[in-house]
Amino acid sequence: MVLQRRVLVSDFDGTMTRHDFYKLVTESLLPPGTPDYWAEYRAGTVTHFEALRRYFACIRASEAEVLVVVERMELDQRLPGAVAELRGAGWDVVVTSAGCDWYIRRLLGAAGVELEVHSNPGRFEAGKGLLMEMPTGSPFLSTTLGVNKTEVVRKLIAEGVEVAFAGDGFPDADPARLVPGELRFARGDLADVLKQEGLEFQPFAAWSDIARALIQRGS
Ligand SMILES: [Mg+2]
Repeated sequence: MVLQRRVLVSDFDGTMTRHDFYKLVTESLLPPGTPDYWAEYRAGTVTHFEALRRYFACIRASEAEVLVVVERMELDQRLPGAVAELRGAGWDVVVTSAGCDWYIRRLLGAAGVELEVHSNPGRFEAGKGLLMEMPTGSPFLSTTLGVNKTEVVRKLIAEGVEVAFAGDGFPDADPARLVPGELRFARGDLADVLKQEGLEFQPFAAWSDIARALIQRGS
């Protein structure tokens, strides 16, 4: 008997971590007078990718100072154990993020966790900030988000994989709608969007709660 493959597709900022990198950047790393690019994104005048790219390019702090802010994102401390338990229960974990893999790979690496990550590439250059780029070589390219999370979920579903999705932001709404309500995990802006639409979802406080819920659900 071949077991059905199961994959938890997860957002990173605000989902695996307590705080969003871009929010911490806007609170503590931007020079005075930096435009409100997030408001421009919400108003529809710039894309999500472009808003984040501009913020990150405004950073004039040193790399060491930025890495202190990365630490303050607070990756769920129980994430490494939760990933191991999920794997033991037959669930793979795939990270999809419209943020930047520069800090994602650092935080996961520091926690000793190796995961498939689909995110926007970037590098830090003193005086130029965090230079985030489109993932041009990715099969999951979105002109507005960089990484197309919806396509990641859609492809897995098309392959017959049982897919759960977890997220907290506006870009998570499209992929979240593709999975069944009992496998749709949400908080923050994503939870608000799903509530407005009357769509079922499972709330969570920490990412490791999702792992527990999936494992307890059994087969
Ligand atoms: Mg998020």
